[in-house]
Amino acid sequence: MSGPVTLAVDIGGTTVKSALVDEAGAVVARHATPTGRGEAARDAVRRSVEQLAARAQDLGLALSGVGVVSPGVIDRDRGVVEYASNLDWAHVSLRNVVAAVVDVPVAVGHDAGAAGDAEWQLGAARGCRDFVHASVGTGIAASLVVGGRRIEGRSGGAGELGHTPVRPGGERCPCGQRGCLEVYASGGGVSRRYLALSGRSATAREVVERVDHDAVARRVWDDAVACWVTALAACTLLLEPELVVLGGGLAEAGEDLLGPVRAGLAEALTWREPPEVRASELGPDAALLGAALLARRA
Ligand SMILES: [Zn+2]
Repeated sequence: MSGPVTLAVDIGGTTVKSALVDEAGAVVARHATPTGRGEAARDAVRRSVEQLAARAQDLGLALSGVGVVSPGVIDRDRGVVEYASNLDWAHVSLRNVVAAVVDVPVAVGHDAGAAGDAEWQLGAARGCRDFVHASVGTGIAASLVVGGRRIEGRSGGAGELGHTPVRPGGERCPCGQRGCLEVYASGGGVSRRYLALSGRSATAREVVERVDHDAVARRVWDDAVACWVTALAACTLLLEPELVVLGGGLAEAGEDLLGPVRAGLAEALTWREPPEVRASELGPDAALLGAALLARRA
């Protein structure tokens, strides 16, 4: 084995996943540690970089760069997470956190954008010029590629699909708005609504498994699918994508999600061909591999 390798870090709400990735995009070594919040989350990133930088040295691999992706509002040029509510972070310079450990270029990006880029270069959206990639986990964030270019918006804030209103006057979202897609259709939303309506706690995956014999599970899941259809019909009419890729934890429901969404989209779009709807190919590694792509460009 020879180098160089990049060091990729994906800061999730519960776990910081990191890896050494070779030039072909293959994972050479992995590390995972609980994220925590605030200063603890910063430490988790620092420790992850230390561990894997040491591992690269042990393996005799040259480290060419570090890519770190995070949820929240990111200033990519400065390498700063301006705000990430789940991490309890404001104005955290990830570039400085990493630079204190290793002396290589550091790139910082948004996790959903990185996941979309990885599916674009290595996964389900290879060769596409117009597609929507949605990461569906605790929340929902999208990566929008139009005409072969990812849309970033005025300040990098494009793609907040999870907070597009799909039910006017609907249930309150932690963001302060009402009727947001992720209230009904994220993994977190499905689980929370099932608890509120049934008094029983279940993961989104468990709710999906109960739909055939549990009326509350059926209602919650039907609402989730209906909200996905509304959001993706709007995306289709606005952007005319050739493909929609659903990734993240909830997309592991597979055909239980994709089948009804395809059927609903075909019914909702009376005069426009619906886009193809596919599951992510890279699964839970999408954002991590996207961070490795960022590192390579750093
Ligand atoms: Zn919201």
